[in-house]
Amino acid sequence: MRGFARRKTLPDYKHIRVPDQGEALSVAADGSLQVPDKPIIPFIEGDGTGPDIWKAAVGVFDAAVEQTYGGERRLQWMEVFAGEKANGVYGPDTWLPEETNQAIRDFRVAIKGPLTTPVGGGIRSINVALRQIHDLYSCVRPVRWFQGVPAPVKEPGLLDIVLFRENTEDVYSGLEFSEGSDDARKIIGLVEELTGRKLRPDSGVGIKPVSRTATRRLVRAALRYALEKNRKSVTLVHKGNIQKFTEGAFRDWGYELAVEEFRDQVITEQEMWDKHDGKCPQGKLLVQDRIADAMFQQLLLRPDEYDVIATTNLNGDYLSDAAAAQVGGLGLAPGANIGDGIAVFEATHGTAPKYAGQDKVNPGSVILSGVLMLEYLGWDEAARNITVAIEKTIGDGDVTYDLHRQMKGATLKSCSGFAGAIIDNLAT
Ligand code: NAP
Repeated sequence: MRGFARRKTLPDYKHIRVPDQGEALSVAADGSLQVPDKPIIPFIEGDGTGPDIWKAAVGVFDAAVEQTYGGERRLQWMEVFAGEKANGVYGPDTWLPEETNQAIRDFRVAIKGPLTTPVGGGIRSINVALRQIHDLYSCVRPVRWFQGVPAPVKEPGLLDIVLFRENTEDVYSGLEFSEGSDDARKIIGLVEELTGRKLRPDSGVGIKPVSRTATRRLVRAALRYALEKNRKSVTLVHKGNIQKFTEGAFRDWGYELAVEEFRDQVITEQEMWDKHDGKCPQGKLLVQDRIADAMFQQLLLRPDEYDVIATTNLNGDYLSDAAAAQVGGLGLAPGANIGDGIAVFEATHGTAPKYAGQDKVNPGSVILSGVLMLEYLGWDEAARNITVAIEKTIGDGDVTYDLHRQMKGATLKSCSGFAGAIIDNLAT
């Protein structure tokens, strides 16, 4: 009856077909996510190779949930539209229909394949728009190595981090004024008036906002994750030595939040040296900070000393791709964009259009994004089942072309063949 009541309140969509079975997720008064046994999950299959990848990935998700929970739980998929397919369904130049956004709001957790970035038109990037419209303020990127994947460093297995990148501010705020424009001239004039400093008149100008509010909620999400998953440290990465009131403030607000809200569970690096001779006491989460340029070196030289990382938007952008390269590239890098009680999980690579319809590319990034989604739903057993099966599949040398061309003695699998091998390797 409860499910029926919740279903009755669902809006009528024009082109989206709500599945006959299943319920929407909800959020309790204390902010916790309430997950029914048959949650309705909106999905965007994506452009280019998206349909190939999605078809392969969904087979893995369904098989893992079925094998793990024996029919007690099921994901009820509901297609929603964005990108090129949305143009076909809703009419030209409709890249991200309002109905899709409404469905994401109504059902709270969605997953997507890669989307074409429209050239020209009213929308800069569908991915950025989704993050902004739904205030998905944490971009979460776990980066780890899978045994057998060729990597440029000697010991790629030492890196196992989860990066929380602030998703809404910094130089991504879109506040840029082109060289010679009236607005740029006005801002240059204002800067001179306020500081006495002259900027070159032929400068383009950008604004980098970093707020206490956005920093605190991002760092809170990283700390909660680290505590829940028993990770050993959270490192605040910033460029505060130069940009004191944005990047430096990010570090200060991060520490402030950590001791204010998590006092009993955390220890700062300073406290560790002052009171514990540089050793983190048992059961405490270490909160430390590193300057961004040093962090790039540290991840290469001492990767096992880092765990969860919380950082500003641009640092996070660079750092997540560099870390992914260190363990063999973006092909197996999943991503999540998470807000309060709402999340969109996504492949981190693009649409690779030249391979569209060839059942060729690696579906690993979307499959691992689904693993993140299952963890977010609290279905950790199914998530673990898939991860172990992927480890085994790659370990056996059953891989798609991108890994095959770099791995000696491997067996070439198609996109669907790779997914099939993962399904075969799921624990029953
Ligand atoms: P891309 O689609 O990521 O493809 C670049 C190259 O990466 C491919 O040619 C292929 O390399 C490799 N690759 C990508 N996905 C792969 C997969 N699943 N398996 C194996 N190899 C894979 O980047 P792009 O060509 O610059 O972008 C194409 C479109 O995607 C653009 O419209 C772009 O804006 C969009 N995009 C979307 C997202 C997103 O939705 N999150 C992210 C990035 C880009 P080889 O040629 O060496 O085989």
